[in-house]
Amino acid sequence: MQNYHFPDQQGFFGEHGGIYVSETLIPALKELAQAYQEAKNDPAFWAAFHHDLKHYVGRPSPVYHAERLSQKLGGAQIWLKREDLNHTGAHKVNNTIGQALLAKRMGKKRVIAETGAGQHGVATATVAARFGMECHVYMGADDIQRQAPNVFRMKLLGANVIGVESGSRTLKDAMNEAMREWVARVDDTFYIIGTAAGPAPYPEMVRDFQCVIGNEAKTQMLEAIGRQPDIAVACVGGGSNAIGLFHPYIAETGVRLVGVEAGGLGIDTTEHAAPISSKAPIGVLHGFRSYLMQDENGQVVGTHSVSAGLDYPGIGPEHSHLADIGRAEYYAANDDAALEAFDLLCRYEGIIPALESSHALAWAVAEAPKMQKDQVILVNLSGRGDKDINTVAKLKGIEL
Ligand SMILES: *Cc1c(COP(=O)(O)O)cnc(C)c1O
Repeated sequence: MQNYHFPDQQGFFGEHGGIYVSETLIPALKELAQAYQEAKNDPAFWAAFHHDLKHYVGRPSPVYHAERLSQKLGGAQIWLKREDLNHTGAHKVNNTIGQALLAKRMGKKRVIAETGAGQHGVATATVAARFGMECHVYMGADDIQRQAPNVFRMKLLGANVIGVESGSRTLKDAMNEAMREWVARVDDTFYIIGTAAGPAPYPEMVRDFQCVIGNEAKTQMLEAIGRQPDIAVACVGGGSNAIGLFHPYIAETGVRLVGVEAGGLGIDTTEHAAPISSKAPIGVLHGFRSYLMQDENGQVVGTHSVSAGLDYPGIGPEHSHLADIGRAEYYAANDDAALEAFDLLCRYEGIIPALESSHALAWAVAEAPKMQKDQVILVNLSGRGDKDINTVAKLKGIEL
């Protein structure tokens, strides 16, 4: 694992990744790839990035020993990487800060994004306001109805939210519209993608920005317990918070890396969003190749998860590669297990976690009792759950 250098020149992580887009998008991706490689080699770029992460986002986020929860479970010690404490409440802002700085460096005055549940739209609108850029967010018309508070947040932050009426009126259609707009206005427009997926160079770029999570964790765990955890675990939607935690640990082969997908109603049903653990075949979606939930005819199938942020039929290409080479393991946590873990963290630690993060926690809650008391599981708490309280209340049959 010392020689793990991915992606390759063509943007592949083994069999996964690459660029699968129409001809018209190729020049824009090439310009972006070149600008990113230049920025990546420029210490001033990283200095500006870390300055904002410190003063605007509030990093480093702490690691926290969930002592009461660990005691209750009676096995391994659970530690949390507190991405929930970031400005805007999740890890997504690490990435939007990075891409906005790159947009600025490239002289682009407009940013566009697509969003499903609205979390990435809010993180993009936030940095657009911060850097004085025009911001347009594409969102399926149905999602606009379902996610009214986030739509209002984006508007408060000065973004223009564009409803997409085509197709299924959800994330997939919003993505198509954003791509179309990027092609039309590539001269002054930067497309901010919200997870470690999409055509190259996005998976690499988003990973590099999110690696701040794992890099901090390595330093912090060493300070806190004098060694690294036995297991590092994170939830996986597109895979950005997970790859940010995992990547700095890849060469540390003593640390097991565990990605937790959304098991929904169970991976033996059709109601889930767990491409790797349900052994989905390889397919192409949104400009890259990876494991992808599809039917016999190769049509992408509908997904389900209690957490909107994990409700995606694909997975970032680097995760598919890490699964192929056996460096990371992938499991699914079902809706009900995530909800139980959500309740446990509220009651035992006074922390309301995001429903996405509750999936990672659910895996740790099941695993910890089988382990020794001196073993350590580090859970990436990717976000806070304030955004989810209406969902949880509804599931409990409570009217707010
Ligand atoms: C969006 C989101 C996720 C899923 O996205 P990844 O790219 O897989 O990290 C997970 N947790 C929270 C809190 C989110 O907002």
